[in-house]
Amino acid sequence: MKKHNFNAGPCILPKIALENTAKAVLELDNIGMSLIEISHRSKEFEAIIEETKNLWKELLNIPDGYHVLFLGGGASLQFCMVPFNLFEKKAAYLETGVWASKAIKEAKLFGEVNVVASSKDKNFTYIPKYEIPKDVDYFHITTNNTIYGTEIRNDIDSPVLLVADMSSDIMSRLVDVKKYGLIYGGAQKNVGPAGVTFVIVRENILGKVSRTLPSMLDYRTHIKEGSMFNTPPCFAIYTMRETLRWLKGLGGVKEMQKMNEAKANLLYNEIERNPLFTGTAEKDSRSLMNICFVMAEPYKNMEDEFMDFAKKRGMVGIKGHRSVGGFRASCYNALPIESVQALVDCMKEFEKEKALF
Ligand SMILES: *Cc1c(COP(=O)(O)O)cnc(C)c1O
Repeated sequence: MKKHNFNAGPCILPKIALENTAKAVLELDNIGMSLIEISHRSKEFEAIIEETKNLWKELLNIPDGYHVLFLGGGASLQFCMVPFNLFEKKAAYLETGVWASKAIKEAKLFGEVNVVASSKDKNFTYIPKYEIPKDVDYFHITTNNTIYGTEIRNDIDSPVLLVADMSSDIMSRLVDVKKYGLIYGGAQKNVGPAGVTFVIVRENILGKVSRTLPSMLDYRTHIKEGSMFNTPPCFAIYTMRETLRWLKGLGGVKEMQKMNEAKANLLYNEIERNPLFTGTAEKDSRSLMNICFVMAEPYKNMEDEFMDFAKKRGMVGIKGHRSVGGFRASCYNALPIESVQALVDCMKEFEKEKALF
């Protein structure tokens, strides 16, 4: 049976990216060796990393003065790497979920952190209102809150340097990169497999802190060495290139955004229509990427039953995060609309079978 892969991360990737990676693992472009057994300094790999960088620049219209880096350590390492490079006296953070809280925890190791607002009071089901202070080194946001299904879907104007964790919505919509000083994320939610972290950084924000930085934690090292200071995650970068080639072939991020909106509308409309279900995130904060819902109050006891029902029809990865419960359908770029339709059909069928209405 065809599986509909709603996993939250690592997640579904384009089939063509998987096929091409599989081939390259056996033999890269008729060179008689595998992708994962050649030097990262070979001309073959140099060409791969170069093209991947250029695809990033092209797909997101990244202006001059910015660098695209491919690092290790996941988004989680960026929680401390950002303050290492940018935190002098004080920083501001918006607390919109567990990932934001983790970033805040690391930043506090460096000095005073101003948490400008938090939606913790309602289990992070909304994006809180906030004001950005002017007396801070930078302001940090998490654009998409993977666990709770909320998203900041517009680029905000910040009077101070803006830093964003875009792990789970990068390349899902057009972003005005020049409004940000630094954007980072783990690749495994929307642009590739686990193992590579992307960082888009404006060069002129670096070198302003007074501390001495270990080489590996200094963005300038990786800029200078073109993400080749040490061995980069070659395999993951290759699959990322294939994923971005696929995205470009579809018409780029603008087209992708339209497709993501269509997918999300389809599912949110059914959640609103179907009396058995209800969404958990507030409407004006809802994410296009992670769609969270539960059984409506009188039907709470049917949750396990629906999970089984959906599983039998090929749905995978729709269990909500343990801190939210219910269901979460992650509708990342590579998820086809047919899978969303299959989930919607499944919800309708379940409603019919219950014959409650
Ligand atoms: C998954 C996720 C992270 C953690 O990423 P790692 O690469 O596993 O460290 C951080 N932030 C957000 C928004 C995420 O979705």
